[in-house]
Amino acid sequence: MFTSDAEATDEWGPPMNAAQPPPLLYDLEREELAEFLSDEPKYRVDQLWEGLYRDALLPAEISNLPKRLREELTDALPTGCELARESVADDGDTVKFLWSLADQATVETVLMHYPGSSASAARSTVCVSSQAGCAMACSFCATGQAGFERHLSVGEIVEQVLRAQRRSGDRRVSNVVFMGMGEPMANFDATWMATKRLHEAVGIGARHITISTVGLIPGIRKLTEAELPVSLAVSLHAADDDLRNELVPLNRKYPLDQLMDACGEYFGRTGRRLTFEWALISGVNDRYEDADRLADRCRPTSAHVNLIPLNPTPSYGVPGSSRNRVHAFANRLRHRGVNVTIRDTRGSDIDAACGQLSTAHSLGRAGGKSPSGDTTSDRTRSVQITERRQ
Ligand code: SF4
Repeated sequence: MFTSDAEATDEWGPPMNAAQPPPLLYDLEREELAEFLSDEPKYRVDQLWEGLYRDALLPAEISNLPKRLREELTDALPTGCELARESVADDGDTVKFLWSLADQATVETVLMHYPGSSASAARSTVCVSSQAGCAMACSFCATGQAGFERHLSVGEIVEQVLRAQRRSGDRRVSNVVFMGMGEPMANFDATWMATKRLHEAVGIGARHITISTVGLIPGIRKLTEAELPVSLAVSLHAADDDLRNELVPLNRKYPLDQLMDACGEYFGRTGRRLTFEWALISGVNDRYEDADRLADRCRPTSAHVNLIPLNPTPSYGVPGSSRNRVHAFANRLRHRGVNVTIRDTRGSDIDAACGQLSTAHSLGRAGGKSPSGDTTSDRTRSVQITERRQ
């Protein structure tokens, strides 16, 4: 449940040390793995590290390690994500995973392939969750409606990308977006350590890693100071405080003027492109006056805007904007000098929007294919998974 009196980012949920699961294979830093291998020749650490992260292998599959050591590692260091369900759409170009974690919490990951006009232009993007549930309670969001369970560990975040890479095969994951379940800035330390691991060990370019936030200013300030030039996306959804207070309760704590100041500082200090995400809700935030206010908010930072019609969620009855309305809104912004992208829609036949597969799973009615091959046919909600083109 949203509480307005928390001060530090880690207060947007239980303390990091509350009921955290034991360390997992991918939770361990390189030095900790070296300690684990202290009786082995030093080069074993390189072999293990590269096998795990560069090649996305499990310990049992790293063939240059002795069989005895592979078995030891497998027994001592469990992985964190067990596949509970997988859904595929767009002729295989969109794959959504529902993971069951060690404590039975569930989180979602989406893998999206974009063929591109040439092999070098092809991209594969993974959308990861940073928390099980979310405490931000955005009124239109399936995850927000389900409430907060816990922060994910570094290993649980990194493993989502590695598991998606394994599923992706020869197509290398090129982009990671923290836009799945949870507010990444509320779990900043794990999000940042996972980001560094993905960059340094997995080899994903920093600019190809996007951290989103619904407006946690302390997190934006930390990102402003951070050494890696990752991308920042702010989920705005409203450009005036009255409406934003309704849609994004966090706005009562960090109102728009303060949020825009933090964005301005980020842009001024880093020079990196800033993106505002805007879920278009019919009759709520898709009027021309909303576009005009948004254009005014974009001007100081030359922010780019990503538009997407809202996906329906069980307890928020208002639908997303019509296709015509989305284009009219985009054109209004363009006429006022704003760079706009209408997000590519993905996974229209699976529960593939933020929190929807997990919610549907807990309701026992998700569509898709289980690991055992079972399928269910209830696809009562047609939803979309989207990703912005960079
Ligand atoms: S929109 Fe994002 S920040 Fe808001 S409740 Fe959903 S997951 Fe949390």
